[in-house]
Amino acid sequence: MYALSRALYKDISPYITDEHVNGVNGDVRGVVLTACEQTMDRIAEDWRYFNHPDRFLFEQIRAYFPITDQLQVFNLIAKHVERALQVTRTYAARGYKPDGTRLRCRATTRRSTPCMRNIVPGTEYCPSHQHLAEPHFTEQEPAASAVVQELHGTEEHADAA
Ligand SMILES: [Zn+2]
Repeated sequence: MYALSRALYKDISPYITDEHVNGVNGDVRGVVLTACEQTMDRIAEDWRYFNHPDRFLFEQIRAYFPITDQLQVFNLIAKHVERALQVTRTYAARGYKPDGTRLRCRATTRRSTPCMRNIVPGTEYCPSHQHLAEPHFTEQEPAASAVVQELHGTEEHADAA
């Protein structure tokens, strides 16, 4: 995931506004890099329950980019987030996280401690806790189109004003 977050940062960092880089916020590039890393790490840990990671990250850092470049920046974020999700799903289907460690069962034992057993690949639970598995695992909805539409709307509005 480190490589994926670096690749994302490399693509979007040229768009960071100098105004902000030299402003009171100081290390804006560091802030953006950290936000990219945190989003990628959260995808790796919690991808099934992380709704619209692309949108989440974009909202965190959009202020550091000129309004005219924000659509492009969002598209780049969406591209890299989709790639990260693909990688994570590929590993998860085999029972692993992207860092190569085993996915652990999500269940809690009767002693209120996390169940530490390995999952049945393709599910979130160990063989003993399969009854807790929900029958429907929905894929992440594509968030990109909605946000892109929003951005277009904002830009058109700005042009008209
Ligand atoms: Zn279990």
